Amino acid sequence: MSTSQLPWPSATLEPAEWLGVQRYLARCLELSASGTLPGTLMIVGAPGLGREALALELGAALICRKEGGAGCACASCERVRRGVHPDLEIITVAPDKKEITIEQARRVVESVDQRPYEGMRRVYLLDSCQTPPLNSEAASALLKTLEEPPPQATFLLLASNPARVLPTIVSRAVQLRVPPPSREELVPVLAAAQGCSPERAVELLAAADGDAELVLRAGGEKLPETLAGLQELVSAALAGDTLAILRTASCLRQTPGGVALASAVLLRLASRSGPEEAEGYLDAVAALLAAENRRAVLHLDAESVVVGALTRAVRRQSAG
Ligand SMILES: [Zn+2]
Repeated sequence: MSTSQLPWPSATLEPAEWLGVQRYLARCLELSASGTLPGTLMIVGAPGLGREALALELGAALICRKEGGAGCACASCERVRRGVHPDLEIITVAPDKKEITIEQARRVVESVDQRPYEGMRRVYLLDSCQTPPLNSEAASALLKTLEEPPPQATFLLLASNPARVLPTIVSRAVQLRVPPPSREELVPVLAAAQGCSPERAVELLAAADGDAELVLRAGGEKLPETLAGLQELVSAALAGDTLAILRTASCLRQTPGGVALASAVLLRLASRSGPEEAEGYLDAVAALLAAENRRAVLHLDAESVVVGALTRAVRRQSAG
């Protein structure tokens, strides 16, 4: 089997087996058979937890000439699953870029009226329709096409949070929220993504208070220790300890998914404290997320964002 051209790790495809994903896929294929599948779908869910798998399986089935349906093992469907089918276009941030550019959007608009090369349809899979990474000019360039794709084209837009998608895009897509997996389904997928044993995956999940997204974004063998250390630092930082603020920022810079981790720690602290203290933690989460949004748009340095957000939260706390 030749190599995958997908922009995601192979473990991303394992949720194709999840019952909820299969059920949604079956429903979409029913709609497609009756000619009522919307031309633009927004598939909402955390990265690695079913949205990519659902999009690819749906894409494969829509392109398949054998009408093999879900799980079809024909050569065409296998090529879609490896991201190498000419009728599947995956639009993602180029390795040397920070966003999905207007040039990429223009290429989509120019090619969308072409007949499929080999399959029944052309499928465009937008790896993220959130802004960022979808540049707002690129989004504008796509609007007309997303509003009414030609009959032979289907757009599958991925998002983790529709609140981060431009309203003009949201209003043109039908949303499909990937159903959460059962624990039995989730553990092997986490283990595959983290390269650890299922037993260890259960431990990591427990350390993250059951937050699978956090395990995927900021996982790794050291997750429990990182969370415990961070909790100590964040508590000291919010008590006004300047050194702890700086150390929190530097710790988050070195950890993938740092802001998600810090938010998880703050939410956990909030859930364990009285209403007044909890409010301080929740303020800090809000400040952190707002700062992270600005950071992503303005390409700021993550460390200064964390310092700014925590400092503001401390100031607000001592003022209140
Ligand atoms: Zn097939």
